[in-house]
Amino acid sequence: MTNTPATAPTNRNAELAAGLARVRTRIADACAAAGRDPGEVTMIAVTKTYPASDVVALIGLGATEVGENRDQEAAAKAAEVAAAGVTPRWHFIGQLQRNKAKSVVRYADVVHSVDSVRLARALDRAAGAERDRPLDVLLQVSIDGAVGRGGALPGSADPDAGLDPLAEVVAGVDGLRLTGLMAVAPLGWEPDRAFARLAEVAAGFRVQHPQATLLSAGMSGDLEPAVRYGATHVRVGSALLGMRPTLR
Ligand SMILES: *Cc1c(COP(=O)(O)O)cnc(C)c1O
Repeated sequence: MTNTPATAPTNRNAELAAGLARVRTRIADACAAAGRDPGEVTMIAVTKTYPASDVVALIGLGATEVGENRDQEAAAKAAEVAAAGVTPRWHFIGQLQRNKAKSVVRYADVVHSVDSVRLARALDRAAGAERDRPLDVLLQVSIDGAVGRGGALPGSADPDAGLDPLAEVVAGVDGLRLTGLMAVAPLGWEPDRAFARLAEVAAGFRVQHPQATLLSAGMSGDLEPAVRYGATHVRVGSALLGMRPTLR
């Protein structure tokens, strides 16, 4: 195969522009159907597996938020993007090990996947050491209550697994700012049922934590039902950038 470096970036730019237009239209249509202002819904471009050049191109096309789910890949990409003089807001959306906290707080503006007290404390310590302002966090909620697949449990007082005990810790430390909730629709659930349940959890949660107004829900396949049930942030990868070579 021959490389065509002179034309490939232009074609990629056109592809990304078309993807962005399609996703923006979907979000606008979903907002119209739900009677919501499209300004209430922020699109996070999930660029995992795609190169830094795609991030730079997307920001050039008007995107502002970028999501990644693996620290090693994200740290390198964020450095490359910064070196290009481009400054998106970086959202860390994947399962996070405590030993990666110190790295993630250096480039991430927001972490969506905080689901344990131990992780929250590690991020708080890291943020205190590495940052000059608190890290915005969303607490990941388990919609189906299944343990082990990520997400704190609504309605559980278990200090290791419950959403409320976790929220109290996050709200009480200096290095973190509690801004909302995040969830992924469980496999095998109708998205409408999953996001209706999430909306219920979020409404109850805001009684205790009125500052936690963000709701991160919805991906390429289910952003419409997520918007219907109040998502403020949708995390869109494949619909924007194309199918990823590997399932992750
Ligand atoms: C990969 C990923 C997305 C984006 O998924 P698409 O189906 O490609 O839109 C959203 N959220 C999380 C947590 C992800 O890991």
